[in-house]
Amino acid sequence: MKSGSEPDFPERESSTGNRALTPISGTVYLVGAGPGAPDLLTVRAVRLLGEADIVFHDALIGDGILSLACKAELVPVGKRSGKHSTAQRFINKRLADAARRYRVVVRLKGGDPMLFGRAQEELDALAEAGVDVEVVPGITAALAASADLKRSLTRRGVARSVAFVTPRVGEGEDVADWCDAAAAADTVVIYMGAGDAVTVMHSLVARGRSPATPVALIENASRTDRVVTSGTIASLPALAAARGNGPALIVVGEVVRDVAVEAAVEAERRYAAR
Ligand code: SAH
Repeated sequence: MKSGSEPDFPERESSTGNRALTPISGTVYLVGAGPGAPDLLTVRAVRLLGEADIVFHDALIGDGILSLACKAELVPVGKRSGKHSTAQRFINKRLADAARRYRVVVRLKGGDPMLFGRAQEELDALAEAGVDVEVVPGITAALAASADLKRSLTRRGVARSVAFVTPRVGEGEDVADWCDAAAAADTVVIYMGAGDAVTVMHSLVARGRSPATPVALIENASRTDRVVTSGTIASLPALAAARGNGPALIVVGEVVRDVAVEAAVEAERRYAAR
């Protein structure tokens, strides 16, 4: 793991034998880091992290994953809320610049890079800059939550559709009508919604979801410090208020009915086995 400032353009020998300052044509890899557990990375992600010269990573990515980038310079590129588009333009530029200096540039994003991660802005900006890009999918938080809950999001006879939604809108965007999907799908997984739980509750009920619909809230899915709580749409604000500082998902629908009962039985079983 290197640190410090990025070096100048490396000197490379041209095909004619002249030594010239030729920019490298590196590739930027948008890599999914998965939900947090390092052993939920894909094999391809692990290989690319090992080969990377430089890694631009989201703030929430843990040391267990970053340490796999053993020879890379690590650059955190967390965005402060309210400064999103400026920060995003800056990230886009840094990625394009890095591809002219390094062969393997990794842009490491939580979960799957293509879901709620501004991947398209980065892809478009890099295409415009003439930089080669590849995308490596990752396990999105919703699927890690489904595994932790031991609940199929499309349980036969109960749910035939699942929607991944977010009530969060970016700077300058209209408030999206995210609730249309939430009203239509059997199972709804809400990203970046726990901080707006009261609005989420009202919006879901206004679109016709019963306040008694089961809800689960999963914080730190896939990690050893995960916490699962559950209730109904009506109790969502209380569940959200009691959560910690980790990333949290809300799962809404019949598939998470009785999560609380099972969690209590499991806790009792563990206690009895001590
Ligand atoms: N691209 C990511 C999502 C980025 S949006 C993915 O595919 O998972 C960030 C939001 O994802 C967080 O606010 C939270 O709602 C959710 N999230 C990410 N990691 C999570 C985790 N380990 N547990 C629960 N929710 C998580």
